Amino acid sequence: MAIGKTHSVVLSVTPYRESSILAVLFSREHGRFSGIAKGIRRGDRRRVPVERGYIIEHIVYLKQHGDLHQITDCSIHDYFPLLRGDLEKTAIRDLLFDIVLSAVPAGDSHPDVYDFIVEFLTGLSNVGQGLRGHLTYLSKILFAFSGHLGFGLDFSQCSSCGYRTDGSGPVWLNIEQGMVRCERCSSGFGASADRLVSAGAAIWFSSSGSGDAPVLSGKEAVAALRLAYDYSRYHLEIRKNLESYAFVEHLAGM
Ligand SMILES: [Zn+2]
Repeated sequence: MAIGKTHSVVLSVTPYRESSILAVLFSREHGRFSGIAKGIRRGDRRRVPVERGYIIEHIVYLKQHGDLHQITDCSIHDYFPLLRGDLEKTAIRDLLFDIVLSAVPAGDSHPDVYDFIVEFLTGLSNVGQGLRGHLTYLSKILFAFSGHLGFGLDFSQCSSCGYRTDGSGPVWLNIEQGMVRCERCSSGFGASADRLVSAGAAIWFSSSGSGDAPVLSGKEAVAALRLAYDYSRYHLEIRKNLESYAFVEHLAGM
């Protein structure tokens, strides 16, 4: 039984037996894992608030067999106060978390994915421009997350003729082939209007870092998110339609 102190992102929390909780956590060292924290159920005076979206510091007793580990000595490292109580931002957080839960199996160590999730929570805390801005931010995050799992996409140039995306026109995405083409090369590419990435979105997806997002129209933002979601589901082999996506769609009036 190994013991270690670590920081983890809380991906989900459910009650477990009388007074415990079962948490799915993600840490730099251990990747995704599940743990039981005893005697810290909500309403308990001794409770430590382990809530979805927090980063907690804790000790983990890793069991060699079975995959339910024991978590003790929890304290909050960061609870992202700007996300709490923000319905749209928590909906967006929940969608990314559900994709992580669906796509990353337990036991693999993914330090880059841990850093990615922490950056996502920080970025989401600060992103502005209302719901449109949040959707624009999320669509880039979904493409980037697929990239971390080996399904990166290059929006900066046409995969056929090499034409550089310069913002003067839209590009077309073929989800199944994982390729982007310019307008000229789009015929016979399985390109339909709903696979069109607006010029502004293509520049945003090909820019590095998470600087200021472009101001997309509501329609462009919604279309970009739908493409990013369909692309993630296809390549990360997420079979079911996620309820958290349906909720974001509902908020966006899609
Ligand atoms: Zn081309």
